[in-house]
Amino acid sequence: MTSRHRRLTLGLLATAALLAGPAVAADKLPVTASFSILGDLVAVVGADRVRVHTLVGPAEDAHVFEPRPADAKRILQSRLFVINGLGFEPWAQKLAKSAGYVGDTVIASTGVKARTMPGDERHRHDHADPHAWQNPNHVAQYVRNIAAALSKIDPAGAGAYGANRDAYIRELQALDVWIRTQLATIPAAQRKVITSHDAFGYFAAEYQVRFLAAQGVSTESAPSAKAVGELVRQIRREKIRTVFVESMSDPKLVAQLGKDAGASVGGSLYSDALSPADQPGATYLQMMRHNVTQLVQGMKQN
Ligand code: ZN
Repeated sequence: MTSRHRRLTLGLLATAALLAGPAVAADKLPVTASFSILGDLVAVVGADRVRVHTLVGPAEDAHVFEPRPADAKRILQSRLFVINGLGFEPWAQKLAKSAGYVGDTVIASTGVKARTMPGDERHRHDHADPHAWQNPNHVAQYVRNIAAALSKIDPAGAGAYGANRDAYIRELQALDVWIRTQLATIPAAQRKVITSHDAFGYFAAEYQVRFLAAQGVSTESAPSAKAVGELVRQIRREKIRTVFVESMSDPKLVAQLGKDAGASVGGSLYSDALSPADQPGATYLQMMRHNVTQLVQGMKQN
């Protein structure tokens, strides 16, 4: 073996060792989730058997996300791609296809009975409301789908995934009971909330809270002046005292609404994204408890 050849061989070995990384990381199943809430659910179900990468991170807006080349690379390195479906991430399957990804994709909302939104001035036709995770009972279905998809790729982990799924479903059931207890302190006629975009339909239907929103189910486009004017009149007519800002969307719209309608601006709600780790909505369970606490405080003023 020439010395040049030996150097080359050593170089290749060093590169191979770098690519493999530490033994623990290399053993983990690489999974990509489209947005932060799904990333949390995958981490809960997969625990120490998976390594999760989230494309749309905390406090970012998945409706208007524009994938970068690095995102395509992430999907290619994954064994499973987890998306919400129901039209929430119109870019996701296009991205996987253009990247040449041939691994499994799981639509976490499969089996959830979707709410239908009537057509409006923005969306001409009836369309599905994608925000199904705002009902914790639907999130139980999400984790069932995620556990099944992980078990298919990694059958040796099926027992662990099933146990993690069942433990988390018990936490979701406890969350559901807690939400009902909190809301029971507000008379039904006072259960009215203003938000910036229409993300809380599933929560509203499950817990009998009325949400009025300035924007439709997507944040793609600003509401028309006519729609805002109608909402201001409605806030006044229904004597709603608090408007809420969503963490991932422009706070100016809601601030203006509050001003025009003589309502105060309440705390921020997490609708489509978790908060960064140092804020109170860093996991799905924390996010829901934070939102309900804020909503109850606001509705008490109605
Ligand atoms: Zn949304």
